[in-house]
Amino acid sequence: MFEQLKLRHVDQSLYKKHLDPLLARINKNSTKDWISHFVLRLAYCRTEDLRRWFLAQEVALLKWRLGHSAAGSTTQALADVLPEAKLMAQKDLEHSNLLPLILASNPNIKIDTKIYQVPFTHALDLVQHRQVLVRRGMAYIPESKLVSLVTARFRTSLSRQLVLLSAVPTTPGLQRTQGFLKNVATVHAIKDQFQADGDSLSDLNANNVPAHIKHMPLCMAQLQIGLQTEKHLKHWGRLQYGLFLKGAGLSLEDALAYFERMFAGKGFSKEYAYSWRHMYGKEGKRANYPPYSCAKVINSNAPNANEHHGCPFKHGTVQEVATLLGRLGVNPQQQKGIMAQQQSHNYQLACVEHFKVTHPNAESSNANVQVDNLGNHPNAWFQASLAYEKATGGGSGENIKGSSTSSALAMTPSGKQHESATSAATSVSP
Ligand code: SF4
Repeated sequence: MFEQLKLRHVDQSLYKKHLDPLLARINKNSTKDWISHFVLRLAYCRTEDLRRWFLAQEVALLKWRLGHSAAGSTTQALADVLPEAKLMAQKDLEHSNLLPLILASNPNIKIDTKIYQVPFTHALDLVQHRQVLVRRGMAYIPESKLVSLVTARFRTSLSRQLVLLSAVPTTPGLQRTQGFLKNVATVHAIKDQFQADGDSLSDLNANNVPAHIKHMPLCMAQLQIGLQTEKHLKHWGRLQYGLFLKGAGLSLEDALAYFERMFAGKGFSKEYAYSWRHMYGKEGKRANYPPYSCAKVINSNAPNANEHHGCPFKHGTVQEVATLLGRLGVNPQQQKGIMAQQQSHNYQLACVEHFKVTHPNAESSNANVQVDNLGNHPNAWFQASLAYEKATGGGSGENIKGSSTSSALAMTPSGKQHESATSAATSVSP
């Protein structure tokens, strides 16, 4: 939820409005809350990225709960996570002459603030930023800084437990749940509204898919470029891109016509047409498969050589992303904010930055661009880009920065520039 609010650029002052109803529901049934926490531990302990994401969400939730709960709950939480913490009596503080020093190191606290004494090794965060007084191995922490102490302690302990959990060998009992746990991390919490018939903005057809690259997030632009270069996509690429285009409004007939032309000489009708009909629910169990969300793309298997699926911000290097963005017309100055987010492992925020630099003033213009789901779903990015173009009158895409470069895009399988790729890409006629 915190990540959703961040991605939707919700002002922090409005968090309460969004979070309170949700937390009230959770608090009504604390047993379910506990169970779901431990299920999520099992689901998110598997890789370092998943652990990092889960830790960030749990710490943000704890901080929020402590900061907005009744007085005394922070002290109770401290007693739970750090029983060594000792509340200093006022007379002891005065007697030891520590009070003036504590007040000097915390100018904003009152003279009668409660002070806790803990071994300094438990308050490294505060010590590192010189926010507390340290004497003879003990840190003296004012009550107002307890939240930071509790969350730091919680983070360390949860992190350690997740690592230990990830090393637990799978037992036959656990094997039953593996499939479910694997999918938890890829489930998109928001209602999936991008079905084949859901997009009224796009006029996608077999002849204009390449021209829509300017409306695609980096993951899909990369697939389009890979397709143009290699005249083929491997299994996961076909699924990721095929379902994206389906959600973007490409009909089955147009999809078959487009990919048959692109897979020229690869026996499309015999080898691949079935999987497209399957994606559209015309074969097999006839399910209407939805396009992949960002969570699914980011947390699914990483691409190997000659594969182009995945999220470039997660699975590519900074250099590869810079090269790709450069080809899409995003200049080095504009790339800085995107790279900063990628390097901080905020892949979805990097994607939102990409949208912002290629769609200037999207939120403040009259474009009525729905930015809510950006960074959550590739199709949301696509639709927001189309809405922006329509609203700003850029019928041919001039308003979208970098759109003029799209025809010159071509990448080798590894993401490096292909000597003759430009001509190959430009020769792909819709
Ligand atoms: Fe694609 Fe989502 Fe990654 Fe953006 S964050 S590149 S939309 S998977």
